[in-house]
Amino acid sequence: MAFKIIASQCTQCGACEFECPSEAIKFKGDAYVIDPNKCTECKEAFDTQQCVSVCPVSKTCVPA
Ligand code: SF4
Ligand code: SF4
Repeated sequence: MAFKIIASQCTQCGACEFECPSEAIKFKGDAYVIDPNKCTECKEAFDTQQCVSVCPVSKTCVPA
């Protein structure tokens, strides 16, 4: 499973892009998106999902 970004809630602050250990988050078109093929849920790298941890808007990075 991967995480996804709820585009309508994202402020496009960009914080998550640099914290993702899998480089799964990119700005594409007009929104930040998580590549489900790259997202590892941060397993083996961190105890918690980094995109969820740094996102200033609650419930914006959520399980896909
Ligand atoms: S859960 Fe982890 S690997 Fe997946 S997008 Fe978020 S920071 Fe990247
Ligand atoms: S940290 Fe949250 S608000 Fe900022 S770009 Fe990522 S998903 Fe959007």
